[in-house]
Amino acid sequence: MTSDHFNLSRRNLLVGASVAAAGSLATTVGAQAKAPLQGIAPVNYRRVKLGGFEVTTVADGYAAVPKVHPIFGNNQKPEDVAAYMQANFLPGNKMAIPFTPVIVNTGNEVILFDTGNGPGRGATRGHLVKSIESAGFTADQIDVVVITHFHPDHIGGLMNGDKPAFANARYVAGEAEYNFWTSKKNADSSDKKMQGRVKLVNAKVKPVAEKMTFIKGGKDVVTGITAIETFGHTPGHLAFNIESNGQRLVLWADACNHYVASLQKPEWHVIFDMDKAAAIASRKKILSMVAADKVPASGYHMPFPALGYVEQQGDAFRWVAHSYQLDL
Ligand SMILES: [Zn+2]
Repeated sequence: MTSDHFNLSRRNLLVGASVAAAGSLATTVGAQAKAPLQGIAPVNYRRVKLGGFEVTTVADGYAAVPKVHPIFGNNQKPEDVAAYMQANFLPGNKMAIPFTPVIVNTGNEVILFDTGNGPGRGATRGHLVKSIESAGFTADQIDVVVITHFHPDHIGGLMNGDKPAFANARYVAGEAEYNFWTSKKNADSSDKKMQGRVKLVNAKVKPVAEKMTFIKGGKDVVTGITAIETFGHTPGHLAFNIESNGQRLVLWADACNHYVASLQKPEWHVIFDMDKAAAIASRKKILSMVAADKVPASGYHMPFPALGYVEQQGDAFRWVAHSYQLDL
């Protein structure tokens, strides 16, 4: 050891000593300023620019689910699904499923995509109206409510008691979706789950059906917002292409339901997909398009703020979270 080394080490020791002294001072100050632990603090909205539009993602909350398999990968072995989640820094046997409606303000109209869970589905969800208000809107300012499909976490917030939650809105939904859930076959179904779903559609969608426009793929909600048929998750599930001044974002709703499982393993079966094969085809179609076009996407169950990009990796994909691209 040279004397230089010695001096360097000694200097480090001295610096170390003063850091330790500062540390004990900080401990003392910290003790005087103690505050109660407050629990996790979720963020409930995020606003970005898309050409002349503003896109605000608004949190309805999340569901804490005590399993991953068989919700994701129910055509896989449970231990393989758990190991794959863990390899991606996620718990193997539990998950949080977020719910993220989207508001697009075109400058002329305020359009809300999906309405969250509504009341009565647990303390961690059903917060949409509160999030809308924190984001600087009121429920009365929503001009158009678009429903991507009629699952409970998307239609649950349509009604507030026996009144529409968005009093001044008109509505847009898929024709195939409405026809399926209101069909005589499903109304007469003996399947308990179907009976529950039909009851919910009758309670939440039917009261506003008179103010609803039913569309197919390729049709516009307003200029710049066009439906894309992505059937499979439900029989009439719609995604949307949102475009302003040459900038584009794809809102894929539930075509992909988990940022790791759905993107990296698009062929894993998802228990919520009503037609597994059609859902896989739709998932691959939308992911391939978003990856090839290098446009941002918003997915209802992607990690908040539910904005990101998709990178193609062989036959699979990877979710790349948005950082500041749409802020500039
Ligand atoms: Zn959903």
